[in-house]
Amino acid sequence: MTVRVRFAPSPTGHLHIGGVRTALFNFLYARHTGGKFILRLEDTDADRNVPGAEQAFVDAFHWLGLTWDEGFDIGGPYGPYRCSERVAIYRSHADQLLAAGRAYACFCPQSDAKETPSEEEGGEGPAGAMGCSGGCASLAADEALRRIRAGEPHAIRFRAPSGPPIVVRDIIRGEIAFERDDLRDFVIIKRDGMPTYNFQVAIDDHLMAITHVIRGEEHLSNTPRQLLVYEAFGWQPPQFAHLPIVLDESRKKLSKRDPNVLPVSAYRERGYVPQAIVNFLALLGWSPGGEEEIFSLEALCERFDLDRVGRAGAVFDLAKFQWMANQYFKALAPHEAVRLIREQAGVLGYRLPPYADDSWLERAVSLVQDGLTCARDFFSAASVWLEPEVAYDEEARALLETEGAHRVIEAYLSACEQDPVWDEAANRARTQAVGRALGVKGKDLFMPIRAALTGQLHGPDLQKSMALLPREIAMERMRRALALSEARDHQGR
Ligand code: GLU
Repeated sequence: MTVRVRFAPSPTGHLHIGGVRTALFNFLYARHTGGKFILRLEDTDADRNVPGAEQAFVDAFHWLGLTWDEGFDIGGPYGPYRCSERVAIYRSHADQLLAAGRAYACFCPQSDAKETPSEEEGGEGPAGAMGCSGGCASLAADEALRRIRAGEPHAIRFRAPSGPPIVVRDIIRGEIAFERDDLRDFVIIKRDGMPTYNFQVAIDDHLMAITHVIRGEEHLSNTPRQLLVYEAFGWQPPQFAHLPIVLDESRKKLSKRDPNVLPVSAYRERGYVPQAIVNFLALLGWSPGGEEEIFSLEALCERFDLDRVGRAGAVFDLAKFQWMANQYFKALAPHEAVRLIREQAGVLGYRLPPYADDSWLERAVSLVQDGLTCARDFFSAASVWLEPEVAYDEEARALLETEGAHRVIEAYLSACEQDPVWDEAANRARTQAVGRALGVKGKDLFMPIRAALTGQLHGPDLQKSMALLPREIAMERMRRALALSEARDHQGR
């Protein structure tokens, strides 16, 4: 049997990180088993569809490095893969159930209410839970047919048969029994002719020969209704695997509006390394066993399996996410980091200074790369070299106001004025010469220079850092630092 799995988003907004995790697990399972991964668009709820959402899904998956074998954008042998183009299929299946007496027309106006589960809640809407109150279930078939032919608006309800509990066999959760009494006669075709989610999904999964339905836990309570549809048609259901819910740090279901967790497009926009996101999400509910945590996409495809997916909610740990993002960002080759930084400058509308050519950017990023989680971080980490103005912090200011610091900077500035060469080696030699002339060394020599040029007492390698600043800007900063201590002297007098 060839494994066939699908990810079936509704194009109702951003692709949330929990959805990406579901897509990823489907992808990994398909690749691990040599099966097929299918992308289906559940877009039958026209009111909720957001223009551009489907293209955003495709872009996000491409960015993350996921590939699919059949889908709404590329087609395939089981298409169409856009549910809105399959409405006649749902309708003809509903007609079969009507003819077999397994479904009936419901003329009650409240059947009009929405039954498609919102992605947040997963479950049936209120009308579905309410059932039919007008006795439509017992209307004579010819009477119902007459009213349908007369054009009377109606929904179609599934006639949920009584019987033993429905057992969902879940790869991750084992067997879960649902009482039939709780299911009632649910709507399968709404008054507007569109299918409800539970009907559409069962038909599509069957007709697309899906072997494993891997999706979020919030859909577990929908599964018994889907099993009833399989049963009514005499179809063999697929296997189910309901992934553990994604929780926030206070162990509540992660909200789509959680300000700490962004839609995938926002991570891309900030210049994160996509593989970091894939790696982090893979560990959200799946455990590789052992201590290792960094896995390439290929390694994940090789190792991922459903038997190591847990049941307990998976916490989106922000610190861990930043850690993972940093692991990947600091491992980037310099030219790759520079590419992301240039792209980021474009996103931010940030004008890089004229001296920031590729080799300058490579040198700059190498000094701060170890601390970055994404390209956007670079602009604050490197601001002392990027911005014309330097901001002196309190410690630096206090040091610059001392007599000793003043002497070092004065001497350094005058040495600069005499020698136009400004590079790492020349600066180092100059620093030593100033130290010898003044009889100072170590911290007393380096700190004032660092404070004058960077506004801080701490930072990356001083000579490398200094060499990133153009000579003119560096000299201007020294003059400003001298002015700071002179201003203090005047006030003091
Ligand atoms: N369109 C549903 C959702 O976005 C798909 C659920 C399923 O995979 O069955 O949640």
